[in-house]
Amino acid sequence: MHEMGIVSSVLDAVHRVAEKNPGRRPSKVGLRIGEWAGVDLESLRFCFDALAPSEGFRDLDLEIDYRYRQNRCQRCGLEFRVKDYEIQCPSCLSDNTIPAGGEELDIAWVELQE
Ligand SMILES: [Zn+2]
Repeated sequence: MHEMGIVSSVLDAVHRVAEKNPGRRPSKVGLRIGEWAGVDLESLRFCFDALAPSEGFRDLDLEIDYRYRQNRCQRCGLEFRVKDYEIQCPSCLSDNTIPAGGEELDIAWVELQE
């Protein structure tokens, strides 16, 4: 399962943050996940709940900042959400638009407690 690998590398990263901050305990980790990152959020949460306690994180919360796929219009600069592969700018109707988000898959933040 691809989500298991993601969770495992997220927990590795949280471990590294914890090592750099002795005496403080990670309480929350935030992930930024794009619509096109190919992640199943339900199984991601499932894997997280299964793995986190065995990695020594008992009260670690997972927060997901979900990003829809977006394009930016090269003519008028508008950023808009892409639905059903429709990449035409809704404002000026130009077809000259480029991807501007929605493929993210990274750790946005780790919250620490004393
Ligand atoms: Zn436009």
